[in-house]
Amino acid sequence: MDLGIRGKRAVVCASSKGLGRGCAEALAEAGCDLVINARGAAALAETAAAIRAAHGVAVTEVPGDITTEDGRAAVLEAAGDVDILVTNAGGPPPGLWADWSRDDFIAALDANMLTPIALMQAVLPGMMERGWGRVVNITSQSVKAPVAVLGLSNSARAGLTGFVAGTARQVAGQGVTINNLLPGFHATDRADALDGGAAREQGITIEAARAQRQATVPAGRYGTAAEFGATCAFLCSQHAGFIVGQNILLDGGGTNATI
Ligand code: NAP
Repeated sequence: MDLGIRGKRAVVCASSKGLGRGCAEALAEAGCDLVINARGAAALAETAAAIRAAHGVAVTEVPGDITTEDGRAAVLEAAGDVDILVTNAGGPPPGLWADWSRDDFIAALDANMLTPIALMQAVLPGMMERGWGRVVNITSQSVKAPVAVLGLSNSARAGLTGFVAGTARQVAGQGVTINNLLPGFHATDRADALDGGAAREQGITIEAARAQRQATVPAGRYGTAAEFGATCAFLCSQHAGFIVGQNILLDGGGTNATI
């Protein structure tokens, strides 16, 4: 299927690895020119080179921390007029509800709620003026079903979800859609870190911890960054203009809910 977005300009935050990279690859395959970002410059340069070689699109790398004002300013300056924005950042650390301080909450809110909101506030006016735009926020399954050890994530992402629910309906009339993609377990570095945490906590091997977590997924496996990216690219396509303000689970059936 031709996604109809060849030549569009896409910003994909936190995209040298994992789900962000999956989104960048799929948008490049659809013909979008990219601005990609991550803190580690070396991995970012490798990813940019691989995407250029595979898809022949223009890829601008902007190293920096997207959760800081300077990091966001650098990405936005490099991007110019943005047609497609994919927001992403690392997730907050796991822990116990009783242990988190105000500073821990502020850090999580900054990274996973206020950063995507600031990026949307920066690009939405231009998209609305030009009459076309797509925003996809990478959030988490934890928005629909809380993950006990990820209370910081549960909290920050719920705030972002509320912002998107209202805002998506205020910009849809100008041809701009905003939706959230909610990953369940995916095979990325983040999943390795969470498997490692579960292994340490229970005193078992990382393989055993992974097998335990995979057994909770009806699909019987972790998702892949490529599957995640393909869904993101579809949401950014011409075909998805009537999908507005949705929270789309990609979790292999892991969230046990009827709707
Ligand atoms: P990942 O494999 O660890 O990759 C994270 C990517 O983001 C890397 O490219 C990393 O590069 C970059 N990054 C992290 N923090 C950044 C920052 N502050 N500024 C700029 N770039 C940053 O993670 P992932 O699995 O793709 O997860 C992506 C998001 O989905 C996270 O918020 C995670 O919590 C959420 N999620 C993931 C899963 C899963 O199973 N994988 C499930 C639910 C939710 P640098 O480190 O070099 O900056």
